[in-house]
Amino acid sequence: MAETDSGKTAEERIPFNYFKKIPKIELHAHINGSISSETIKKLIQRKSTKEKGQNNVVSQWETTILKGDEKNLDECFKMWDFIYPLVDDTEAVFLVTKSVIEDFAQDNVRYLELRSTPRANPKTGMTKESYIEAVLAAIEEAKTTVPDITVR
Ligand SMILES: [Zn+2]
Repeated sequence: MAETDSGKTAEERIPFNYFKKIPKIELHAHINGSISSETIKKLIQRKSTKEKGQNNVVSQWETTILKGDEKNLDECFKMWDFIYPLVDDTEAVFLVTKSVIEDFAQDNVRYLELRSTPRANPKTGMTKESYIEAVLAAIEEAKTTVPDITVR
């Protein structure tokens, strides 16, 4: 990130800790667009053990996703190409939804509205219906792990 004239870092200019602490609502969070790098790493590990030869995905992830704020707009949209193959079965949908809820709860979001387009995948047996069921099951389970957040 570029430095300002005053030479302050982003952390000094923007009170991130304050924003993190205050209670918040999030009315429009796309599940697959809210996955943390930590969770993406887990998904990649899960994929590499399930299917061999996923090194290509791993190296693409390292070069593109790990660029963080340095990404240009094209690279941001390309993220979907990496994320969708990682979230192509109901177990992954469940895992991702639950961790997204927990991440929002960590940031002290108290009310969260999730969005997602149900996708089917004949290879893994996932249907649009089982996709939704996995999302709902994750919301249900998150009630026990992070009870202070209301999720719709
Ligand atoms: Zn939207």
